[in-house]
Amino acid sequence: MWGIIATWRMAVEGIGKASEMLKAEGDAGDAIETAIKEVEDFPYYKSVGYGGLPNEEMEVELDAAYMDGDTLDIGAVGAIKDFANPISIARRLSRESVNNFLVGEGAEKFAHREGFERKNMLSDRAKIHYRNRVKEVQEQEIKPYSGHDTVGMVCLDTHGKMTAATSTSGLFMKKKGRVGDSPVSGSGFYVDSMVGGATATGLGEDVMKGCVSYEIVRLMKEGMHPQAACEKAVQMFDETLRRRRGKAGDMSLVAMNNKGEWGVATNIEGFSFAVATADQEPIVYLTKQVDGKCVHEVASQEWLDNYMKTRTAPLVEK
Ligand code: ASP
Repeated sequence: MWGIIATWRMAVEGIGKASEMLKAEGDAGDAIETAIKEVEDFPYYKSVGYGGLPNEEMEVELDAAYMDGDTLDIGAVGAIKDFANPISIARRLSRESVNNFLVGEGAEKFAHREGFERKNMLSDRAKIHYRNRVKEVQEQEIKPYSGHDTVGMVCLDTHGKMTAATSTSGLFMKKKGRVGDSPVSGSGFYVDSMVGGATATGLGEDVMKGCVSYEIVRLMKEGMHPQAACEKAVQMFDETLRRRRGKAGDMSLVAMNNKGEWGVATNIEGFSFAVATADQEPIVYLTKQVDGKCVHEVASQEWLDNYMKTRTAPLVEK
């Protein structure tokens, strides 16, 4: 058995590439890195890698993490600038015995020394989004934060090895130096090849309050199916946040166990995800909540076409 599951429609091309590798009995580490790089490199996705939206100082600061479910090795970078593939730097850091999670200048120094590709990650489209947002904020006197989507993946290879990985530009208009849940173990991701893995997208500040990825893996370890584990963890934590704080940020989690069974839960409308297994070609699903349960529907061709059309549509400066 092999499988790979990921947050958001944007992951499906990467999942396709990873599937080919996994089918050929490739390694879960190589497959997940390839899949995440595909998303980082695609210029029209505004929340990951090149083309990701900048912080309030118009700098693209990126967070990424990689975890090996066999050894429990973790590598992560936070608020790193000017490198093409943060996921590869995170994976490289996972092989160090200490200094596994580096941020800002320290992460950049490491990446430079190790010869990773430098790149100005601020695209022309991202500059237009930034300038439009600055105008909106001034005109409407609203909070600047707007939009965020992390690509997070969990992967199982034919040798039984599992990996998890994330990559994101975080919250659009964040403060310089802000790091979300995505590179934080247990919050943005967690994987144990003996059990399974989970990964999150949503408001990092809230996801971190509940260590939701770890909670899902813990529930799977107790014997729950990934779908039941995701629903229980997301529903309970969403309720906790509403009861204790009056509101809960967006939170969507995907999980896979070491048998290739998967699950997804969300507290928002319109969450999309992509999954492929030995029994199933890469498919994009949309999740709806019906009577407190998350129901997954295959995305229609119309929805998929429309998604690409809106992502690549010409941008006008306001
Ligand atoms: N979790 C990410 C962050 O807070 C953003 C997202 O996944 O939507 O940085």
